[in-house]
Amino acid sequence: MKLEFIPLYEAFEKYEDRCPICKIIEQEEKVYCERLLEDEILKDPEMYIKIGQTNFCRYHLELLNNSYDKLGLAIALKANISHKLQQIEEMSKTLKKKRRRKIEKEKCLVCKYLRERDAYHVHILLDILESDKDFVEKHSKGFSNLCFHHLDVLIGLAKNIAPQIDKIIELNKSTIEKNINDLEWFITKFDYRFHDEPWYDSKDSIERALKLLGGGYYD
Ligand SMILES: [Zn+2]
Ligand SMILES: [Zn+2]
Repeated sequence: MKLEFIPLYEAFEKYEDRCPICKIIEQEEKVYCERLLEDEILKDPEMYIKIGQTNFCRYHLELLNNSYDKLGLAIALKANISHKLQQIEEMSKTLKKKRRRKIEKEKCLVCKYLRERDAYHVHILLDILESDKDFVEKHSKGFSNLCFHHLDVLIGLAKNIAPQIDKIIELNKSTIEKNINDLEWFITKFDYRFHDEPWYDSKDSIERALKLLGGGYYD
């Protein structure tokens, strides 16, 4: 087995109840943010500039604020807002001129990194599916829980492995249909006439729907 296959093999072994690719991305997000605030910003001048110039998305600003080291965060925020002040000052200088310089807006550094990692993992997964014909069958549970984002991307990229992708779509369809039925029952339970009926599997139907919809959140 190729070395680069291992993380995905492990993820499909370990995480069956949710999209295994999302799970890997989530772990990489955590490691990246930690490194960003605890290490790189303090030691790597190039990274310091990059952090200054980026436009963190709202989601990652909140994540960084809630989960990570405050010293690193304060340094990052100082670099970032100082850069933005500088940009405003530059723009204000050209305010009365006819030709205003347009400033290119950098994307969120964390989103950018995750988008690259996402594309990488999807390509590795396609390689795995090509070389290991039993992979889908062995990990049918994990595949049945792929999020819409990763399902979309796989369908869009799969050329040589149409039969496996068909299998994956079949697996997903039954999970999604079950989710829809459970949401339907959850909604019905709000009707007082059904108040005493059991919940069946509907209690976590919202949570499951959110997992389905939550992949690929990076902009
Ligand atoms: Zn996913
Ligand atoms: Zn972001």
